[in-house]
Amino acid sequence: MIINIGGGVIGLSLAFRLLSAGQAVTVVERAAIGQGASWAAAGYLEPTLTKSETAQVEWKSLQDWPQFVKEIEDCSGLDVDFQTRGQLRIAHAETEQAVRYDHDARMAAGWQVEGLSAPQLRGLEPALSDKITWASHLPQVSWVDDRKLFHSLGHGSDGYLRAPYYTEQLANMILSPTEFG
Ligand SMILES: Cc1cc2nc3c(=O)[nH]c(=O)nc-3n(C[C@H](O)[C@H](O)[C@H](O)COP(=O)(O)OP(=O)(O)OC[C@H]3O[C@@H](n4cnc5c(N)ncnc54)[C@H](O)[C@@H]3O)c2cc1C
Repeated sequence: MIINIGGGVIGLSLAFRLLSAGQAVTVVERAAIGQGASWAAAGYLEPTLTKSETAQVEWKSLQDWPQFVKEIEDCSGLDVDFQTRGQLRIAHAETEQAVRYDHDARMAAGWQVEGLSAPQLRGLEPALSDKITWASHLPQVSWVDDRKLFHSLGHGSDGYLRAPYYTEQLANMILSPTEFG
């Protein structure tokens, strides 16, 4: 039996992987499942802007996300709203210099980036304010709805995540409110 302390996105993802590999896992959570930092996250899957080893792992993780999502959705039958439509970093007159600086830094770090003029941007998203002067498009940035991710990962768990669509695969996941000193 593997004891996994902490029921955030890391703990539940790890439990999911271990359960998928046939291991028995107990997730121990001192408060409520998924109510820590993971509940507040915006859900952007965006490597850090460095050339560090950490960034290499983040890029690899980003590549692995579609397969991870497929496995979670297949197992739970629930959509986690994973999107790979990229990100627009929009600028108005006062912030354009900073956004362009960030854009150039990402390009230097090997990211795919595309500068969009105001007319190009409005062609893409007509609802944007006419005060927007420029945008940096980052097609590699992905996004997940972390709350849907929790519902999907938490199938078969106790507490607020208990759902009628309990699945065999996660049946071993026991989540108990235990305080550790
Ligand atoms: C406002 C905000 C926005 C963010 N936006 C993004 C984003 O867009 N993209 C991104 O990648 N990241 C984002 N992050 C960061 C991301 O939320 C965290 O990196 C991630 O959620 C960490 O997951 P975790 O499972 O390690 O931690 P948590 O979700 O905090 O889970 C840890 C769990 O462990 C439990 N615990 C702690 N100690 C014990 C103990 N002794 N015994 C039992 N249980 C214990 C806690 O109660 C908690 O439930 C954001 C964070 C914040 C705050």
